[in-house]
Amino acid sequence: MFMMPLTATGKKIVTVPAGTAKDVDIAVDAARKAFRESWGLKVPGSERGKLLNKLADLIEANVDEFAALETLNVGKPFSMSKNMDVGFSVIALRYFASQADKVKGETIESSEQKFTYTRREPYGVVGGITPWNGPLLMLICKIGPAVAAGNVVVLKPSEFTPLTSLKAAGLINEAGFPPGVINIVNGLGSTVGHALSYHPDIWRISFTGSTLTGRKIQEASAKSNLKVVTLELGGKSPNIIFDDCDVAQTAKWAARGVYFNMGQACIAGSRIFVQEGIYDKFLAAFQEETKAWSQHTGDPFDLNTQHGPQVSQIQFDRVMGYIDSAKKDGATILTGGKRHGNEGYFIQPTIITDTRPDMKIIKEEIFGPVASIIKFKTEEEVIEMANNTTYGLACGLFTQNGARATRVAHALEAGTAWVNCYTMFDLNAPFGGYKQSGIGREFGSEGIYEYTQLKSVHVNLGIQI
Ligand code: NAD
Repeated sequence: MFMMPLTATGKKIVTVPAGTAKDVDIAVDAARKAFRESWGLKVPGSERGKLLNKLADLIEANVDEFAALETLNVGKPFSMSKNMDVGFSVIALRYFASQADKVKGETIESSEQKFTYTRREPYGVVGGITPWNGPLLMLICKIGPAVAAGNVVVLKPSEFTPLTSLKAAGLINEAGFPPGVINIVNGLGSTVGHALSYHPDIWRISFTGSTLTGRKIQEASAKSNLKVVTLELGGKSPNIIFDDCDVAQTAKWAARGVYFNMGQACIAGSRIFVQEGIYDKFLAAFQEETKAWSQHTGDPFDLNTQHGPQVSQIQFDRVMGYIDSAKKDGATILTGGKRHGNEGYFIQPTIITDTRPDMKIIKEEIFGPVASIIKFKTEEEVIEMANNTTYGLACGLFTQNGARATRVAHALEAGTAWVNCYTMFDLNAPFGGYKQSGIGREFGSEGIYEYTQLKSVHVNLGIQI
């Protein structure tokens, strides 16, 4: 069976083989052998870190090719592929490399006759499943911490966008990882993804994708071997604009927060709550920013392009369906709302006003360049409205009142809160979701420790019975 990755204008790029459940078995066996014979705690953390650094160097040396593949397959503007996707992947790999020799346990105060300590041991074979919206970065965020902590990995990239993962597989060999340490198996979710999530020899699985599929992964864990599950899922993040914000700056951050990667971002600040005193002024500034964003729509390989196409016909139809539903529900399309050009899956950055909490566009993840605006009066009211969602990935708020900023950041039910900014990451800060946006964390020491299991060791120094 074969898969045909397409460009974001629908043209076939190349044909790649689609793996099967049998390929997953072969990869898991190779991984288990590598873990037993040439990896795990047999290799010091500093050595594991060196190999990850070598892989980072190789990706960096091929940055233009990786960026071109990502742009070709996903439709991301080239400058974004280069600086954000590939550039940040290299930085992230070096961060994970730096953590490989910092995995440590604790000693526990006992008595002179007993010594107790904990160890953080790798799981062995870790499964990884990634989505299409940031293929290389998602790959690195799975293999980096898993391998740094001494695990071996079998990973399936999205069937829509496997190209940069396949290119990275070649460099993984070149970097000198022992065979079997990192295995990439192409294929569909229903075959390869299913086989990974049910595999009895995989003890931890890390999944990034939709909440719908996340449920299936957790169900598979329950029905197979109770493997530990990390889920990085969808979002419907609130971005709250208070009366006392710096309007010009806020409008820029809000535009970046929702239109970044054509809105195909789990963290997208897609519900924009605007306080009534600043409503008209903010909306005018936000409209200007939206128009400026639209003006840079076009060929993703043009270095001036900021806004490219959606990834596929399916996603294009899905996003346009949400815009139609907003119209039918009585909302107003203030800006955009249409296809851009005649070819490819381009959608204009879109602002929707006159929304109500019961509308589909307010409740569901759109995963496109669509900002839904909601007017509010008080801090208490907006906290309640913002938390009225099944998701809890991220949130943003804009105010010059420091006490309010802290109060609201703490009250919002989300794993990440941005104050007077949006989409700012720090590899030392854990990232992950509350509620149905996920389980577990990536980045920071927590992100590495996700890939370790804790053992307590009790040593008798002389107690007689
Ligand atoms: P998706 O759930 O459709 O697919 C994700 C991966 O799961 C793909 O590799 C797919 O082949 C695989 N899959 C599908 N069915 C499966 C099954 N039954 N068993 C095992 N694997 C299966 O998601 P997508 O459309 O690729 O990505 C978009 C979603 O990802 C959005 O909801 C977005 O919010 C989310 N996302 C979350 C984060 C985060 O960090 N929280 C980051 C990026 C994307």
